[in-house]
Amino acid sequence: MEGIEHRAGSVLVTGGAGFIGSHLVRRLLAEEGVDHLVNLDRLTYAGDLARLDDVAEDPRLENVIGDICDRDLVDRILSTRGIRTVVHLAAESHVDRSIAGPAEFIRTNLTGTFTLLEACREAWSRGGDADVRDADVGDADDPPARFVHVSTDEVFGDLAVGDPPFTEVSPYAPSSPYAASKAGADHLVRSYRRTYGLPAIITHASNNYGSHQHPEKFIPTVIRSCLEQTPIPVYGDGSNIRDWLHVEDHCEALVQVMARGRIGASYLVGGEDEWTNLDVVRVLCRIMDARIPAGAPHDRLIRFVTDRPGHDLRYATDSSRIRKALGWVPTRDFESGLRATVEWY
Ligand code: NAD
Repeated sequence: MEGIEHRAGSVLVTGGAGFIGSHLVRRLLAEEGVDHLVNLDRLTYAGDLARLDDVAEDPRLENVIGDICDRDLVDRILSTRGIRTVVHLAAESHVDRSIAGPAEFIRTNLTGTFTLLEACREAWSRGGDADVRDADVGDADDPPARFVHVSTDEVFGDLAVGDPPFTEVSPYAPSSPYAASKAGADHLVRSYRRTYGLPAIITHASNNYGSHQHPEKFIPTVIRSCLEQTPIPVYGDGSNIRDWLHVEDHCEALVQVMARGRIGASYLVGGEDEWTNLDVVRVLCRIMDARIPAGAPHDRLIRFVTDRPGHDLRYATDSSRIRKALGWVPTRDFESGLRATVEWY
């Protein structure tokens, strides 16, 4: 497996009991270069350690149930475990919840990110110097330090049909409190790079799908509705377009960024596979028709419901930077990935 060529040493993953984080923890434990992996997760409604059952016996995995806003706890983890790589995924992540109650998004996504940045700045500074530029270099004892901040393409707002896709230089224009909180976190990370030299890299992924996703999200909702023969809710007229990325392809990109990403850079990570929401539902219904003929045709369950306020029309990503610089390419096509996801559910 081509992955971390250098020794990553001890790694801190935040949000490793979540959907993407649990896939990343599993993927990292397949790397010999990872000596120890701390998963710091508060286990909110979205976190579940059962997602990691298959790797729970790995002696390198240490699950710490705690809050990224808890500075003392983060300090203790960084110092006692000698953490040199942080991959930060912990977040409130559901757009609808951010509209109903934004406060928790500001706390975790902004204050939580700030807490991690401050703790890393202090832990990685040498001789009490506020500037941590040297932390990137590492030495015989320490591998180079890395702070990989996992963000989203939603910070760029939305596109009209026919617009060119987002790139790393697209202007920030978040639409939802979720996207705004992630955008704010990105700006903090960028400022810590610029002001203090923190060895940070930002990734912006498109919509992920795959196994272990929380049932409230779009694809699991459609699958569950088909299995339970209940109405399939589709926002508006279903014409919103998303760029779908398999979660394992996303994690592979994160591993490449950890290992070889350029400090200070940001990378868009997208499947470059655009689908309207209605077409996604129709494909899922066709897959279900084949799996459970008794319930066919499942598309009779589709119900159009009042659109989400501020619903972004289209996301599309241009991943050429990470493709060219790191040789990453998504390996799963959406329809076969969806079939495997349905099998898992
Ligand atoms: P998720 O909601 O499934 O998981 C989030 C995890 O963070 C949960 O395990 C939760 O318990 C934990 N958490 C929440 N608040 C915490 C806190 N204060 N302290 C410690 N842990 C806390 O989210 P996900 O879909 O796996 O997304 C992970 C990251 O990837 C997020 O930062 C998200 O913005 C980003 N992202 C997600 C997608 C996507 O399609 N899901 C796309 C692009 C980027």
